[in-house]
Amino acid sequence: MIQVNKNISLLEYNTFGIDVSAETMVVYDSVDDLTELIHHSLCNFPKPILHIGEGSNLLFLEDFRGTILRSNINNVNVIEQNDDHVIVQVGAGWNMDDFISYSISKGWYGLENLSKIPGQVGSSAVQNIGAYGVEVGDFIYSVNCISIADGTYRKFSHDECNFMYRHSIFKSPEYRGKYVVTSVEYKLNLDFTPHIDYGGIRQQIDLLGETPETLSAQKLRDIISNIREEKLPDPKVYGNAGSFFMNPIVDRDTYNKLVSCYPNIPKYEIDSNNVKIPAAWLIEQCGWKGKTVGHVGVHPKQPLVLINLGGATGKEIQNMSDTIRHEVLDKFGISIIPEVNFI
Ligand SMILES: Cc1cc2nc3c(=O)[nH]c(=O)nc-3n(C[C@H](O)[C@H](O)[C@H](O)COP(=O)(O)OP(=O)(O)OC[C@H]3O[C@@H](n4cnc5c(N)ncnc54)[C@H](O)[C@@H]3O)c2cc1C
Repeated sequence: MIQVNKNISLLEYNTFGIDVSAETMVVYDSVDDLTELIHHSLCNFPKPILHIGEGSNLLFLEDFRGTILRSNINNVNVIEQNDDHVIVQVGAGWNMDDFISYSISKGWYGLENLSKIPGQVGSSAVQNIGAYGVEVGDFIYSVNCISIADGTYRKFSHDECNFMYRHSIFKSPEYRGKYVVTSVEYKLNLDFTPHIDYGGIRQQIDLLGETPETLSAQKLRDIISNIREEKLPDPKVYGNAGSFFMNPIVDRDTYNKLVSCYPNIPKYEIDSNNVKIPAAWLIEQCGWKGKTVGHVGVHPKQPLVLINLGGATGKEIQNMSDTIRHEVLDKFGISIIPEVNFI
């Protein structure tokens, strides 16, 4: 089925809670619906075309004068299974966290650390979502897509997806907006190996009297869910899009120079040449933690998260983002790049 709505409010379709509207929204239920739409009627709909998921990484700066596409494809099929792993194809419109819960219940492991990240399965591949030391790209076998231009099918292998930190081929200038992800094939383990050396997980395991050997995947999911609930604002209370900025990656020389001025500057090791610096620390050092300007604030517990205090416009949030970026650049000589997609 294909549903078409005109002049629709996007308030419920973006977690920042920005009160804008779209000229047209089209929701489709299957790959056949999507190809039929592209072959027969999409050319008559207002342009530009934007495919969204749950809008949890979007910042609308104004009303969208074009057509928004949304997927309701939510089937799941096992493609291959042996003693070691399963390859499972999941419809792009399924909520990612629901799929993670489902995969744990089936004994398919690997995605536990990504629990409670908002958004759809399709966007998980576009965004290469990551948390607590795990990136979804490490578990993506391939991504099935339909070209928006002519409705042709294309499968992108893991290598073709070019996954990097919060990046995939689907975000590159050449491919952005050109393909609709219709399903993602995840390769998941049948043995559970917990990843626990990140973000206080080990301490929580100790507090619960568990050990890495006794820990179940569901328990790890519960721990991650609790840590996230404690640290991150609920978009239903304060509109937000999670981490607004990416953590900058700098070479070791740059990092060593910074250490001589700021001995406490934290880092995560990337490789022998590069380190990642937490953008939250840089923002906090510039005095922004907990600060508010008009309807926009920097979250008091997590300075990487900008929040809508109520009634903020996209432009107000963009202005705060610009000011923070300038101040971080002036103080540290480091450019922090927004993770959020400005529309
Ligand atoms: C409270 C909160 C916490 C968060 N925590 C994390 C976190 O820990 N780690 C993390 O990585 N992210 C996090 N995020 C960001 C967000 O959840 C992810 O980026 C998520 O993948 C976005 O999914 P979505 O369905 O909402 O996509 P949207 O925000 O709607 O879209 C994101 C991008 O994907 C494209 N897109 C969507 N669907 C398709 C499709 N089917 N085909 C082609 N392109 C498509 C859109 O055009 C857009 O470019 C958080 C967000 C919030 C609000």
